[in-house]
Amino acid sequence: MKILVANLGSTSFKYSLFEEDANGLQPITQGGYQRVTDYGECIEDALTRMREHNHIQDASEIDAVGFKTVLGIKKTGCVAADDSVVNDLRSSADLAPAHNPAYANGIEQFAKNLPGAKRVALYETAFYQWAEPAGRRYAVPKSWHEAGIKKNGFHGASHKFIAERSAELMSRQDVVERVRSLYHGELKPIEGNPLRVVSCHLGGSSSVTGILNGCAIDTSMGLSPQSGLPQNNRVGELDSMAVTYAMKKLELSPEEIEHQLTKESGLLGLSGVSNDIRDIIKAAESGNADAQLAIESLIYSIRHYIGAYAFQMGGLDAIVFTAGIGENSTNLRAEVCAGLEEFGIELDPEINQNTKGVEATISSDYSRVKVYVIPANEEIVVARETLRFLQRTN
Ligand code: ADP
Repeated sequence: MKILVANLGSTSFKYSLFEEDANGLQPITQGGYQRVTDYGECIEDALTRMREHNHIQDASEIDAVGFKTVLGIKKTGCVAADDSVVNDLRSSADLAPAHNPAYANGIEQFAKNLPGAKRVALYETAFYQWAEPAGRRYAVPKSWHEAGIKKNGFHGASHKFIAERSAELMSRQDVVERVRSLYHGELKPIEGNPLRVVSCHLGGSSSVTGILNGCAIDTSMGLSPQSGLPQNNRVGELDSMAVTYAMKKLELSPEEIEHQLTKESGLLGLSGVSNDIRDIIKAAESGNADAQLAIESLIYSIRHYIGAYAFQMGGLDAIVFTAGIGENSTNLRAEVCAGLEEFGIELDPEINQNTKGVEATISSDYSRVKVYVIPANEEIVVARETLRFLQRTN
């Protein structure tokens, strides 16, 4: 069984090829293209490269293509990427303009280039479908809710990977089995004590998710990836009144507002330096107060959500850091966990400082709450779910 995972941006195309063996799905090769104008050409080029390197003899060996679709108004979960998915992605493009048109076009293009391969969509929102309705509902008029204005949640593939991997690290096979069963029928029961994990995906785009027994209970992103933590250049949490007030006070058009909130806000807006935390850290170290505030705001927000979800879950067993910032920014991790001994959270400073981009337990031996770094691996989640979809539907 060979599965190709396609990661599509408005001008980028990345792929990863996996093959199933006795130990599960193994990565075989990956590649990518930037400044893409024609997905069809990239797909053909990628297939040629795979043939030349003997990863495949023929394109017909690829059994399925998995897509990490962002959100649809009508759809979520792990489903056949058919015409109804394509239409739904297009009709909800306003909420994910960088990704939905790309996936709609990419799915159609794969149908032409690889007609024999099954196409499977794993939605970034899928992981949140069991979150409590009370937490998913905005307090807006019913007509807004019915128009699809609700908390969707994002980074589902990443947080699901963390749910499974952290349960493995904590030897909770019952939770591992439950996470594997999500999207594919009845949820498996839990045998042991509740397992309460907060997953911090901190990268160019960031979110924090509370995970109880392998299922998300809540997440910091809402209707769109615009919400929650300050993002690289997107605003994060903001009082809705700020939008109409800024329109009047600063005489901004809706287009200008959207541009400023999605391209000039977040860490970039706060620091005035960069949208990359590495540049912001350098500027802060050389005395830039705005850069320092940007870092502190991010840390403040991460702690805010960890605290909220620990409370909602009735306690905490593990905190996980993942993605570019979470895996590499040792000082930020130390600041997030500082002064929380009262809550059973204590890092091992030396292990924390020496952990970059690799899996590790960074809490001290005395810490009741485990703190892990787990490198993000969204591709493997899409490949695994695609395989499970094929097994379920064949
Ligand atoms: P994306 O959300 O774009 O997929 P990534 O998970 O790749 O993002 O994270 C990218 C971000 O990670 C960069 O913008 C940068 O801020 C941060 N990052 C990468 N490497 C380091 C590092 N060594 N130290 C601190 N931050 C880092």
